[in-house]
Amino acid sequence: MYCIISKITLGLKISDSFILYTLLICTSFTLYICYIFFSKKDYTHYTKDNLLNTQNPWYWEWDKENIKTLHSKCSKCDELLVYDENYCNNRVFFYCPSCDNQEMIIRGGNYKYSQYIIEREIKRKAGIGKYKKVI
Ligand SMILES: [Zn+2]
Repeated sequence: MYCIISKITLGLKISDSFILYTLLICTSFTLYICYIFFSKKDYTHYTKDNLLNTQNPWYWEWDKENIKTLHSKCSKCDELLVYDENYCNNRVFFYCPSCDNQEMIIRGGNYKYSQYIIEREIKRKAGIGKYKKVI
């Protein structure tokens, strides 16, 4: 068997071997690019999670690698939560306008900061694949 393979290999001209190896390298490279492309798209179905110990799940959509339409809903009536910033204590209160029920507090800054840390947590979980346990 080895002799047959050797004869076949030796029977090839240098240009044939060059073409064969070039095709092999190109195929491997293409498969690697496809793997990277499709593996990065894998997290796009990750669009809901309870983050940073908040009671309510956060919802969002992916725009390539960016997060858009980040929001949270009331646990009782499913209404979109609104926020109120407390500048003195650096806290953001999220509450339901229908129930007038306070749903959660994010500490450490204003509303923009709260959105930033939620997005950062989403991207962190998406990056390490931790979200697969949640879904
Ligand atoms: Zn409500």
